[in-house]
Amino acid sequence: MLQYHLSYWERETFFKPIDVAVIGSGIVGLAAAIHLKTLDPKLRVAIIERGPLPIGASTRNAGFACFGSMTELLDDQTRMSEDMMLNLVEKRWRGLQRLRALVGDDNLEFKQLGGYEMFTEDEEEVFQQCAEQIPDFNRKIGAITGYPEVYRVVDERLTGFGFRRVRHLILNQPEGQVHTGRMMEALLKRAHEKDIKIFNGITIKHLKDTSEGVELETEFGWTLRIPKILVAVNGFAKRLLAGADTTPARNQVLITHPIPGLKVAGCFHYDRGYFYFRNIDGRILLGGGRHLAQDEEKTDEFGTTELIRSALVQLLNTVICPAQKPEVDTWWSGILGLGPEKKPIIEKVSPNVVVSVRLSGMGVAIGTLVGQEGAEMLLE
Ligand SMILES: Cc1cc2nc3c(=O)[nH]c(=O)nc-3n(C[C@H](O)[C@H](O)[C@H](O)COP(=O)(O)OP(=O)(O)OC[C@H]3O[C@@H](n4cnc5c(N)ncnc54)[C@H](O)[C@@H]3O)c2cc1C
Repeated sequence: MLQYHLSYWERETFFKPIDVAVIGSGIVGLAAAIHLKTLDPKLRVAIIERGPLPIGASTRNAGFACFGSMTELLDDQTRMSEDMMLNLVEKRWRGLQRLRALVGDDNLEFKQLGGYEMFTEDEEEVFQQCAEQIPDFNRKIGAITGYPEVYRVVDERLTGFGFRRVRHLILNQPEGQVHTGRMMEALLKRAHEKDIKIFNGITIKHLKDTSEGVELETEFGWTLRIPKILVAVNGFAKRLLAGADTTPARNQVLITHPIPGLKVAGCFHYDRGYFYFRNIDGRILLGGGRHLAQDEEKTDEFGTTELIRSALVQLLNTVICPAQKPEVDTWWSGILGLGPEKKPIIEKVSPNVVVSVRLSGMGVAIGTLVGQEGAEMLLE
């Protein structure tokens, strides 16, 4: 790695007049920085990002604006109280409304096409469990969302979508989808409009809170000293804060070439959400399969593997688009931040450092809220 000293001009002009720096320019970092400027327009805010673009999860996700499929919520209920589960749903719902308010539906290309959970012939029992819970869930989650009939069985739509091996579909009607690229582009534009400086290509190796501000050691060998820091590095948190209770997890994704006559519209969860897919620009975006190689995928290194690629291609050709067998255009991966519980970490770890991390694979939904709450905590 290139090593050098900052010149006097670089130090005094570019890096000196900063009151708060946010590390990481994903959804959380951008939402936090924009919120800081909204709360106090005089504050000099900067973002420090290691990539030429944000390179974690925010530019690499599936763009589901989702707050809970039934098997996921029922599974959550086996690990936490019902109140906690509903609290999580409420956070996602509120987070989505904040994202929509901040970015605007047109910029997000937000489409409320619904979220579907698919059940195969082998999943009859779990489908029946979910179906029985629908009235109860509609009452409780309807109170959060304002939609009286959030969930309903829509098996009649199966033929239209052209799926094979799927017997039942449960629709979550208020769920939607966003164009991930446009969302991030709009957030970056908003940050520039607010006069937030964004420094790309700088990796922070280490940070230390001192009585004279927070020292940020960069990989180039020079150090910055900034009064207050918000850490928004999600799945990479452990590299920066050894004590962070987060584990990285890689998710692999494919997108097909455009598929003539594609009828699939919405966000779909298959095999209890271990696989997910949606329509975008006449194509299918499909990801998941991390459960097939749990240990190998607990990594913050990008990449794809033969095992998961072939599982995704098989699902595409046998279940999702059996009639068309589309060609894959490209593959990529992104890094999630997971932990022992689904609750994000929004915490002051020292007098001048707040962390907003561990989005548990739902950062489109809760990222704005997690960034904004972190910003407020930093200014308290
Ligand atoms: C494949 C995939 C699909 C997903 N699909 C969905 C979905 O459909 N719906 C949903 O709600 N959520 C989804 N998610 C989750 C969602 O994308 C994330 O929860 C969210 O983007 C996290 O945002 P973030 O800002 O916390 O982290 P990130 O977007 O990961 O941003 C962290 C940033 O910090 C930077 N960084 C890291 N370390 C350093 C350092 N030391 N110095 C400087 N910069 C650093 C990284 O380069 C990165 O840009 C998905 C995630 C993946 C990977």
